[in-house]
Amino acid sequence: MMEKRSEQSSAENPEELTNLKLKEAKQWAVGMPGVMAAMSDIMEETGLARGLKALSSMNQKDGFDCSSCAWPDPDDERSPIAEYCENGAKALAEEATQKKLTAEFFAQNSVTELSKLNDYEIGKKGRLTEPLFLPKDGTHYQAISWTNAFQKIANHLNSLASPNEATFYTSGRTSNEASFMYQLFVREFGTNNLPDCSNLCHESTGVALTETIGIGKGTVRLDDFYKAEVIIIMGQNPGTNHPRMLSALEKAKANGAKIIAVNPLVEAGLIAFKNPQKIKGVLGFSSHLTDLYLQVRINGDMALLKAIEKLLYDAEKEAPGEVFDSQFIGSKTIGFNSFVEQLQQYNLHELGLESGVPLEQIREAADILKKKKKIIICWAMGITQHLNGVDTIKEIVNLILLKGSIGKPGAGLCPVRGHSNVQGNRTMLIYEKPSKKQLDKLKEVFDFEPPREPGYDVVECIKAMHEGKLKVLFAMGGNFLSASPDTNYTADAIRKLRLSVHVSTKLNRSHLIHGDEAIILPALSRSDIDMINGEPQFISCENSMGVVQMSKGVLDPVSKNLLSENQIVCKLAKATLGTRTKINWDKYAYDYDAVRNLISAVVPGFADYNQKVRLPGGFYTLNPPHEGRFENTISSGKVPFTLTGIPQIRLGGDEFILATIRSHDQYNTTIYGLDDRYRGIYNERRVIFMNEDDMQEAGLRAKDLVDLYNYHNGIERVARLFVVVPFDIPKKNTAAYYPETNVLVPIDSVAEKSNTPTSKMVIIKIKKRIISD
Ligand code: SF4
Repeated sequence: MMEKRSEQSSAENPEELTNLKLKEAKQWAVGMPGVMAAMSDIMEETGLARGLKALSSMNQKDGFDCSSCAWPDPDDERSPIAEYCENGAKALAEEATQKKLTAEFFAQNSVTELSKLNDYEIGKKGRLTEPLFLPKDGTHYQAISWTNAFQKIANHLNSLASPNEATFYTSGRTSNEASFMYQLFVREFGTNNLPDCSNLCHESTGVALTETIGIGKGTVRLDDFYKAEVIIIMGQNPGTNHPRMLSALEKAKANGAKIIAVNPLVEAGLIAFKNPQKIKGVLGFSSHLTDLYLQVRINGDMALLKAIEKLLYDAEKEAPGEVFDSQFIGSKTIGFNSFVEQLQQYNLHELGLESGVPLEQIREAADILKKKKKIIICWAMGITQHLNGVDTIKEIVNLILLKGSIGKPGAGLCPVRGHSNVQGNRTMLIYEKPSKKQLDKLKEVFDFEPPREPGYDVVECIKAMHEGKLKVLFAMGGNFLSASPDTNYTADAIRKLRLSVHVSTKLNRSHLIHGDEAIILPALSRSDIDMINGEPQFISCENSMGVVQMSKGVLDPVSKNLLSENQIVCKLAKATLGTRTKINWDKYAYDYDAVRNLISAVVPGFADYNQKVRLPGGFYTLNPPHEGRFENTISSGKVPFTLTGIPQIRLGGDEFILATIRSHDQYNTTIYGLDDRYRGIYNERRVIFMNEDDMQEAGLRAKDLVDLYNYHNGIERVARLFVVVPFDIPKKNTAAYYPETNVLVPIDSVAEKSNTPTSKMVIIKIKKRIISD
């Protein structure tokens, strides 16, 4: 019999789905509605005074870092009015809320009752205020002291047959200081099981860039945007996911840059921007952003890139030396001839068909690029979460190499990171596959033998839980279950654990699907004052462009019973390792400067960390490719061109491709509201965006109810009761929000080499729901 996996939290009552209101999708982003939406959330959650106090400090040089995305702050002057966006304000409202969850709340609400709520309702309950424990076969979380909580976790960890039976997840919010001490504890404990949220998002970027330019990070700085001649934005929706990028694009545009957007959905934020910080924007006038919108079909990016390269090659043949950067190619790259040889074998017409973009538009893109060398290419999950995600990024690198658009002002590679310190976590050695050099350094500085065997990434970790190889999950932040693929399979995996522990600021679904025992450790948030010995402390984070800067909270915490993530790590390490540790955890729990001195001793580029992080605006991490040096590449200082192939996607007559996406009222797995203003969706998240011709052919009309099915590897996965919404999206392509549709993402459909779930490429069938009266 076929295995079936359907949602954990599926709304089964069609009556619940009658509130959807549809409006025209917007042709511009932000404007005054963005300001109003942000302020309304602030008023509701924090109250005006607390909200304004925090907002005035958010992303300022002496303030705290937005806990949402990783878009950088300006190096020079920052706006005294608002150095944040609508979604940053919403993220603040969520974490700075005055609503509190006490032990009484948990005594009145069983885990089963709470798990019937949807993710939005769970998130709106308020801040966690004390440590909580769910005993084996218990029905309700109950209060527990910090000491007892640490002791219980330590007892579990120390009773394992091997340290490799525990896994230690990290979400991208964790500070550099806490991340460094966390990996140190985990490695002294004896495992490299350090999966993180990068495994689910930009891992393909890390792999592709490390194998080409020699460093798994982007090469541009914010200032490069203002010098660029062309900016290409691929598989990214900045209006919702990195809203302040729109200000950078507006400025780039004013400086003469051309913008090419490559995306299957037509997104408001890529079309135009009403800057609420400018009179023009307040009065409702927008700045047009995109000069050329290439509406690729899902995963048509590789074919598009090759088609552009082919056209550029033809142009170069006609005018040698004018299109390609021959000097750069000759001195800084290898493999050009093989690359060209392979490129010539492709047929332009076929590439156009595979990409889904009309040839005349591809020619227009090539014409824009022909004479330009200051080119930036940005990308996000629309590129990384595919079977061939690593190869597509390498093809982006190929295009950049042809033009010599790297290592010079106004040019380079710009993966845009999703979570505020996801890049910093990796710099701080949160990685399941550390290099020998990194481990040797830990051994040299701390005088213990770190484990050498690679650990599990997220997908491997979920499978290992299923197989009984893992007994304890410790999650530093995040919402492990909702962020992971194949929700049902992951939930079953978690239920097999002896203990699941989450360090969190708010309740989320991962607390409600648990191991035999479960513990929640409530942490201070970014905006909270972290007071030690009467002195407010600061932590630090690294943004998407490699700037490390301090972050200092300004709000009184909602409870006196919260600890910082760094304190939680250090106290747990002490409880677990006891006399066998070589590290003075008591000292590092309360002395963040001392933690930063340790980082200085281990992480390249962090010498004098304590001095540099106190400079207004912080400092840049090491990035040789930014300066045109490729010393870490496999071919001694030269970047290889990569030979890639075109993905072959063939669908059955009743099959569609689904890309899981975010709504505008959402950040990662946190749901701020039920609207998606830019796409014209109100009061509903369970919608599926479809091409109108596809709808007609499938006998579907707007607002019809459907169930979504995936049959990867002979397993039936179902997401029930979605409402059909017509949208500007290529034929046979669909999109719907996660985490609701994560149930459809097969655990064993992952990107080659990076093991990232293929969340942007899920093959589904859509079945109309017959509702009887
Ligand atoms: S762009 Fe990102 S980091 Fe900046 S304020 Fe908005 S959500 Fe926060």
